Amino acid sequence: MNIILIAPPAAGKGTQSELICDKYHLNHISTGDLLRNAISNGSSLGNEIKQKMDNGSLIDDEIILNLVNEKILDEDNFVFDGFPRNLNQAIKFDELLNKCNKKIDYVIYLKIDKETAKMRITSRYVCSKCNNVYNIKNLDNMMCPNCHIELSKRSDDTEEVFDNRYDTYMKETYPIINYYKEKNLLYEVDSSNEPSKVFNDIEGVLND
Ligand code: ADP
Repeated sequence: MNIILIAPPAAGKGTQSELICDKYHLNHISTGDLLRNAISNGSSLGNEIKQKMDNGSLIDDEIILNLVNEKILDEDNFVFDGFPRNLNQAIKFDELLNKCNKKIDYVIYLKIDKETAKMRITSRYVCSKCNNVYNIKNLDNMMCPNCHIELSKRSDDTEEVFDNRYDTYMKETYPIINYYKEKNLLYEVDSSNEPSKVFNDIEGVLND
């Protein structure tokens, strides 16, 4: 089973991807995490990527498609989190999937309004080692419960950059919802609810 999650920034894609992967034994591919890993390796490509991510723009399709291509060659059963993110990526991804005899089974659109998503970023912290995302309201301290290192704020999780990320999403990513609707693959879930309720609704889609 292969699943794509589409959502505006800070809608909970990462959290829901982890929950889906655990329950259905799928592999998680987050293009955001792959890019952050490339940055932390300190390459010159990493510097270029960081500048774009820090102002909320998309990274070049060719870089993204290469990253995904490398990951999916030898395996199946994925949750794609943050990819595809524009129409060109969606079309090229279909070509890639065809070539390796794979297909997408579900595209889940996590729907949330801009203000609710924006409010979430103020309490959102991440672990630089395991990439898990936490709401600090649910923690006793600022340490990652898995890795026991201090949590930090993502450099693009500011209100100003959030506005750019949201505009980029509306311009570039939102149109692919229709692309998958026309292929009868799209399922909509209300992501403004608590994470456990959102996951419940996703299970409803996948168990159907
Ligand atoms: P969010 O969806 O909450 O903004 P992500 O980790 O998915 O978080 O993405 C963070 C940033 O990484 C994006 O703003 C963009 O710069 C870059 N990025 C992630 N996935 C893609 C992609 N498929 N295509 C282009 N850029 C991407």
